[in-house]
Amino acid sequence: NIELEKTKNRLYEINREAAIYFYKNLFNNGNAFKYLLNRGINEETIKKFGIGYSPDSWNGLLYYLKGKNYSEDELEKAGLIIKHRDGTRYYDRFRNRIMFPIMSTNKKVIGFGGRTIDINSQPKYLNSPETLVFSKGINLYGLNIAKEYIRGQKIILVEGYMDVISLYRNGINYCVASLGTALTTNQVKLLKRYNAQVYTCYDCDEAGMKATDKALDILKEEGINPKVIMLGEGMDPDEYIKIYGSNEFKKRIDNALSYMDFKIQRIKLKYNISTTEGKIDFTKNIAKLLKQFKSPIELDAYIKKVSEDTNISIEAIKKEVFNKEDNST
Ligand code: ATP
Ligand code: MN
Ligand code: MN
Ligand code: MN
Repeated sequence: NIELEKTKNRLYEINREAAIYFYKNLFNNGNAFKYLLNRGINEETIKKFGIGYSPDSWNGLLYYLKGKNYSEDELEKAGLIIKHRDGTRYYDRFRNRIMFPIMSTNKKVIGFGGRTIDINSQPKYLNSPETLVFSKGINLYGLNIAKEYIRGQKIILVEGYMDVISLYRNGINYCVASLGTALTTNQVKLLKRYNAQVYTCYDCDEAGMKATDKALDILKEEGINPKVIMLGEGMDPDEYIKIYGSNEFKKRIDNALSYMDFKIQRIKLKYNISTTEGKIDFTKNIAKLLKQFKSPIELDAYIKKVSEDTNISIEAIKKEVFNKEDNST
């Protein structure tokens, strides 16, 4: 469809112009620039990610882009302006925010994430809406940059824009973030192309651990064998690397948990394994998971571990694992 392609190309153009506008404005606004410097981001990184600032104005971008002959209709389609309730005028979606352009792997600007720098204003992060060129579930923030550094080695999935950027700034340049939503199958398919060991490194809080749990299942379903980087102390990767530095972060990568170790840890939280009942339920639950192992060596290693945790014999756990398999087939 040629018409559709034309419209999409206009939206890419508009987004690129907007990114340039935001970028220029960052250097005109002392507070915004200082905000980034205070967070440890230097000019080289600002440039690399094209970080910008949307001024504290209701129509700065609107007028700027109208001046470049884009129509209000097009700007609205790009998700950059919003129609006022009274229907007579439009206003800028992003105001007084640090702007993170979201790019496709072929380096087109497809949308934005905007972080408020005013502690009183909500929400903390505001993203572009879904548009003809932007769909959250099929893109990963930072992949346009990370792809150059992955080289079939490692790729780290983090939660946020600032995590990707801060890790990059500290020499860990193979990180991507899902865009404010849970990891999707399509995002995993995108990751698979790079043939690298996939790590998750989500915020070390309950929300992050829950998200990890879900992400692991989706990665597994797509045939990826992920590892989990644990940071501890409620920190996110940005906070962690600022305090401990990149060498410590790399040690965390080396000590990442296997899928099963993470799952066992999570399941353990649900039961009180100092009681007999807790031990039984915990072990039964783990046995269900262990069924999926094709390798007898791996299976053996985990069974030993669970046996040590619970004092339930290796033989009994083994039987439980295989019984379940017999019943289900
Ligand atoms: P910062 O370090 O700047 O406070 P963060 O990345 O640590 O940001 P989190 O609260 O941990 O912020 O959120 C992780 C990610 O989830 C964000 O980078 C953003 O993509 C998304 N997110 C967070 N809050 C919102 C929100 N209110 N609306 C949409 N997306 C959000
Ligand atoms: Mn969080
Ligand atoms: Mn953070
Ligand atoms: Mn965070």
